[in-house]
Amino acid sequence: MSRRGARVSPAWVRRRLLAWYDTNARRFVWRRRRASPWLVLVSEFLLRKTGARKVDPIVRELIRLAPSPEALLRVPSRRIGSLIHPLGLQNMRARALRQIAGTLVAEHGGRVPRDAEALAALPHVGRYMVNSVLTVGFGEPRPIVDANVMRLLHRVHGVREVVEIHRADNLWDLAGRHLPKGDVESAKRLNWALVDFGALVCTARAPRCPICPLRERCPAARGRRTVSGRRSSVPTQLPLSMRKNDPKHRSGGGR
Ligand code: SF4
Repeated sequence: MSRRGARVSPAWVRRRLLAWYDTNARRFVWRRRRASPWLVLVSEFLLRKTGARKVDPIVRELIRLAPSPEALLRVPSRRIGSLIHPLGLQNMRARALRQIAGTLVAEHGGRVPRDAEALAALPHVGRYMVNSVLTVGFGEPRPIVDANVMRLLHRVHGVREVVEIHRADNLWDLAGRHLPKGDVESAKRLNWALVDFGALVCTARAPRCPICPLRERCPAARGRRTVSGRRSSVPTQLPLSMRKNDPKHRSGGGR
């Protein structure tokens, strides 16, 4: 992003995306009004590099079986592994879920902590998961940035794409400027709208510019210079973050 900041106003993008989300929202169990922090944590962990539609039925079943960290520790690893087998990496994921649950039981009384530092200290939990749990599970809005959101910010605001998303504070600050102040439900919806919009409209290889509600002000769609002064065109290559990333912070590949 240029030193002058984004030229397309985050407030304008927010209005357009919330209106788009009204009719295009995807419904998942972790987006329910009463989704618990534990359900959100488990969902976000399984969503790494895996499509949301595949994850949704598995989370429903897993939470029925293990509605709390303590309950998960009572379920045999093999049972968890076979349940999440359709998502792949089931042995690694089952082990990791048990590590997360074990830490919650040992250090937090079996509850998901309402604290960013404590959440970030959990095994396998990165910045995206921390902010998603705080926003959805605890009603404390924080920005979330995955590969889809980064791509959208790159195209609309000219912000630079990076390999290590979790370290790029400017990306998170810019995403945060899109969140409405003092309206938790709209903040949740905006975060989900950003993710869904990147997955369904502003896609990596074939962005649907002709039907995009941001088209009239999007520099990438108009092929004019971005705010960073570089000539802009709609990128077609995969985002850097999808090629290589830190496992603890990997996010968004299949959302
Ligand atoms: S106009 Fe095209 S490049 Fe710009 S946000 Fe919409 S889909 Fe993405």
